[in-house]
Amino acid sequence: MAGKTFPWVLTASVPWADGPQYTRGTHDGLPLLSYGCAPRAKLATYRQLRAMGLRPNGQDPVAVLYVRHNASGKTSFASLYLIEKAAPVRPMTPAKWTALAKANLARRICRICGKDPLYVLPTSTGLCWPCFAAETAVSDTVDCGTADDWAEAA
Ligand SMILES: [Zn+2]
Repeated sequence: MAGKTFPWVLTASVPWADGPQYTRGTHDGLPLLSYGCAPRAKLATYRQLRAMGLRPNGQDPVAVLYVRHNASGKTSFASLYLIEKAAPVRPMTPAKWTALAKANLARRICRICGKDPLYVLPTSTGLCWPCFAAETAVSDTVDCGTADDWAEAA
């Protein structure tokens, strides 16, 4: 396959421009473009979108970019997406924020005092630090056999 080239083809219509455009034929049914002739202002690969803080947003690729690696003689292909249809990465809807807040809140409520200490509790204890410290202190005291003395004094 070394030396295979993709001839220029005048394509009647493409999603990223008005009127006929030169492409390198088609690949998997999509217009094929060579590196350098893809309109950088209109089309971007997934990686290029991520570099711009964007994601394809569910759109199908509108073209395929091929890059020839001279060293290996291999050709690789990358899907191209319309930049204008891309969306910012991780848009948070109000419902998503609410769900996230609830999930975080549940993990922050202390088992003993029922308060929200405003940080996520250690899952091993489920206690806020004051309660954890108190629990530890009590059991330490019990271990020492002075729990009753300690309770009367308090
Ligand atoms: Zn607590």
